[in-house]
Amino acid sequence: MASSSVKVAVRVRPFNNREINRGAKCVIQMQDKSTCIVNPKQPKEAPKNFTFDYSYWSHSSEEDPSFASQRKVYQDIGEEMLLHAFEGYNVCIFAYGQTGAGKSYTMMGKQDPGQQGIIPQMCEDLFRQTAHNTDPDLSFSVEVSYMEIYCERVRDLLNPKSRGSLRVREHPIMGPYVEDLSKMAVTNYNDIADLMDTGNKARTVAATNMNETSSRSHAVFTILFTQRRHDNMTSLDTEKVSKISLVDLAGSERADSSGAKGMRLKEGANINKSLTTLGKVISALADMHGTKKRRSDFIPYRDSVLTWLLRENLGGNSRTAMIAALSPADINYEETLSTLRYADRAK
Ligand code: ADP
Repeated sequence: MASSSVKVAVRVRPFNNREINRGAKCVIQMQDKSTCIVNPKQPKEAPKNFTFDYSYWSHSSEEDPSFASQRKVYQDIGEEMLLHAFEGYNVCIFAYGQTGAGKSYTMMGKQDPGQQGIIPQMCEDLFRQTAHNTDPDLSFSVEVSYMEIYCERVRDLLNPKSRGSLRVREHPIMGPYVEDLSKMAVTNYNDIADLMDTGNKARTVAATNMNETSSRSHAVFTILFTQRRHDNMTSLDTEKVSKISLVDLAGSERADSSGAKGMRLKEGANINKSLTTLGKVISALADMHGTKKRRSDFIPYRDSVLTWLLRENLGGNSRTAMIAALSPADINYEETLSTLRYADRAK
């Protein structure tokens, strides 16, 4: 079994109109793999420097080589992770950051040409590659599920009629799973696109009913990819199954600043718990990488539903990538710095 490794990228989004109208200043600078942030209140202070596998800039024209298009982000991260899935690894890509920093844009993106995020590009690529298969003894199947974790409870986004939350259970061999979560078999990209659409709508409707935004829940899109090889000599089939988890995390901003009470406070505590646990899990795995230690019992997967359900995608036989989404604006300095520190611990 290969040791785990975590690829870490940061991506700064362009200014939004509100920031432009307020004359916001950019506190981030990027060059190659290095990203630095300047404290707008202490401009004389030395900038804080970080190094990541990828630093994605978007404050240049689209023709400029430094501009990180949706295509480029997919080619760097998505293509590599898909390759690992074909090799039989479980993979996980997640987007971390403050609400409005660009997590959904990076993971899901928009319908317009060139605006699709990692998830649709990866699904399209998966079917494109399987369609090119000429080996008659090799066949593929793809199933998807889409769930939301809100306040440590799981909701099925592909079955919006299922009221309430689903139970999280543990299979002795397959590990943690969600009981009764819909798993849809898909045979082409359009099937997946329809399901993504259903799930995204369900997410928005639920958020509106709660008078909240979807930024308070984690959205987990899972592709179960099976490669089946038929052996003509023995007439036996062997299967290689990879689980691809693509996660748009809840906004990382702290809930304490707005005098949160009751449900909101509980929500904030739960969000922080999952994000903190995820941070601990990832940095424990990153520390283990390159060493011979396999102390998976020291990794606190059980401390949150998110990390528990992603256990098979984070440890052992898996490949993980994290993309931290950053706002460029001076007013978000504190949150952006805390996102950079979180990403830095994952390396
Ligand atoms: P989050 O999911 O982190 O809350 P979003 O992905 O919804 O944030 O991004 C907020 C807004 O900024 C959206 O309108 C989105 O289209 C836009 N945006 C985010 N990142 C980029 C980017 N890299 N390039 C262009 N627009 C972006």
